[in-house]
Amino acid sequence: MAERTETHEFKTEVKQLLNLIINSLYSNQEIFLRELISNASDAIDKLRFKSQTDESILGDDTEFKIKLERDALKNMLTIEDNGIGMTYDEVLEDIGTIARSGSNAFIEAMEQLNKTDALTPELIGQFGVGFYSSFIVAEKVTILTRAVGEEKAVRWESHGDGEFTVTEAEKKSRGTRITLELRKKQEGEPDFTDEWTIRQIVKQHSDFVAYPIVMDVEKTEPIPETEQIKDADGKAVGETTRTVIKAETLNSMKAIWSKNKKDVTDQEYEEFYRHISHDWNPPLKKLHLKLEGTTEYTALLYIPSQAPFDLFNPEAKHGVQLYCKRVFIMDDCKELMPEYFRFVKGVVDAPDLNLNVSREILQQDRLVRNIRRNLVKKLFDLLNGLEAENYEKFWQEFGAVLKVGVHTDIENKNKIADLLRYKTTKSDGQWKSLKQYVDDMKPDQKEIYYITGENLSALLNSPLLEQLKSDDFEVLLMTDPIDEWVTQSLTEYDGKKLKSAEKGDLDLKKVDEDRKDKYETLFKHIRAKLEDTIKEVRPSTRLTDSVACLSGDTFDMSGYMEKILKSAGQTPPENKRVLELNMTHPVMDKIHGMFEADKKNPKLDDYIHLLLDLAVIGEGGKLEDPSKFSKLVGELMAAA
Ligand code: ADP
Repeated sequence: MAERTETHEFKTEVKQLLNLIINSLYSNQEIFLRELISNASDAIDKLRFKSQTDESILGDDTEFKIKLERDALKNMLTIEDNGIGMTYDEVLEDIGTIARSGSNAFIEAMEQLNKTDALTPELIGQFGVGFYSSFIVAEKVTILTRAVGEEKAVRWESHGDGEFTVTEAEKKSRGTRITLELRKKQEGEPDFTDEWTIRQIVKQHSDFVAYPIVMDVEKTEPIPETEQIKDADGKAVGETTRTVIKAETLNSMKAIWSKNKKDVTDQEYEEFYRHISHDWNPPLKKLHLKLEGTTEYTALLYIPSQAPFDLFNPEAKHGVQLYCKRVFIMDDCKELMPEYFRFVKGVVDAPDLNLNVSREILQQDRLVRNIRRNLVKKLFDLLNGLEAENYEKFWQEFGAVLKVGVHTDIENKNKIADLLRYKTTKSDGQWKSLKQYVDDMKPDQKEIYYITGENLSALLNSPLLEQLKSDDFEVLLMTDPIDEWVTQSLTEYDGKKLKSAEKGDLDLKKVDEDRKDKYETLFKHIRAKLEDTIKEVRPSTRLTDSVACLSGDTFDMSGYMEKILKSAGQTPPENKRVLELNMTHPVMDKIHGMFEADKKNPKLDDYIHLLLDLAVIGEGGKLEDPSKFSKLVGELMAAA
């Protein structure tokens, strides 16, 4: 029977990635082992889960384990598991051809950083380049794998240089065996065929892996009395001990979440965090809970101290793993955590859960819903209890994610509102809570003012705030896109309405009726000239120093929202703005004079467009015709 052999090219993205991996300098080369062990452990998890419904698929091979083999002479290291294995098609799908979303994000970020020498373990962990990390240390990688229930095995081989081959092969037992032909070790690099090097790496990175990681090690043992050579007096004349090779389990497999808090050290908590999160930074805070009664569960959750690169990638995994009596059920358990807590990492172990539970069932499962409600409550308590400094760190990293909850979780909207922080026109760059804002409100202030936009300094200096500032009212400066949704859902706080500084009547000062009459026909004229972009021209109650700004009516879309939708590739409904003009500004007097003298004066047209441009620039917007603008301003300056 002819064997199937195929040679394939890696996809371009994978080639780039491999190129980076091979040519970069690492301070932590050893992380490749953590990645391969974690893949092996995942493969056993999958099989173990599958065997819950049909134990017979395991055959005689029922003792799950991960085996490491070292060969110093050949400079090789092998990682073998008796997990689920891969079929021919799975090997093609999962290894080498498909650039996984993580790898793509990784390459983009790397190119942006443009510093290939900074490829750190944090990056590798975050982007899950997993298996490919073997090429950090290996010049050739061979995978021999046999999927559970299959007769044939598959061999995958590559030098990581652009091509790989896949062949049908033989393998006695199910599972995956990955052989690394190691690169020649450079001065100062670890020797990955050395027993103690491997022991130390496994201990550090893979200690909590739930299956024994076994390796043959040298042991010294006493020679039994009967085998010792003795003299006439019965005294041993030769050696009394000998060196033997024995398999040893290198990891502790301690599921620390199932222990009592007092029996777990800070260091163990931190190591465990590193193990599940692949994050090298210590977590900001942990939450270890044991709940008994009708909703019984154990949880060990962590809030990271730094946001991962893919925090806003919708495909990024959530961080909570679900276990049932220490048996892994699933990764990325979205049902246990609302979207706005998706940065929380950890494990939840629910002993009453059915092991065969599927994601579909989980969604409706009462127990899971109760656990989720409970965990959310505990997380709110935890965040509310954080010291100011830590809370600020948290907010800086994850505030934008938490805010989503205001829009999506009606039940907890007010609790999340208490956790919101904004910079304000008066907070001097510091974060401020809504509660603090309300406490600081002036006696004559009825509403909570806010403004949305892309950039803090543009907002701070926005003409829209001139009157508010001159009346000494504080304004919340909202610079996250999500704030647009926050303000749609959070219309009041503590009985005070939230009011956009950009929209509707601010009720700050009365319009001077005499002036209004004087300008009426000019405003109509301006409106007619700008009717393609502007829905109305109004005397401004917001401006004190600037001459023009753009505003909207209460239920109009804000300028920032329009920008967000456009940059997301959407076509927002037509949203003409209001051009507000400052009737007390000397420029308006000049224009009025020109208008009275000769409505057809071409300069008048230019000035009208300049007014619009000034309003656009005032909110940090883009001009339609910047070169015309600069020409006109040039002319004006020359004439001055
Ligand atoms: P990740 O582990 O993040 O999914 P990898 O590149 O490390 O990414 O692995 C890609 C895929 O290859 C895995 O998702 C899994 O399906 C498969 N795989 C890797 N190692 C093994 C293994 N030891 N046994 C079975 N499947 C494996």
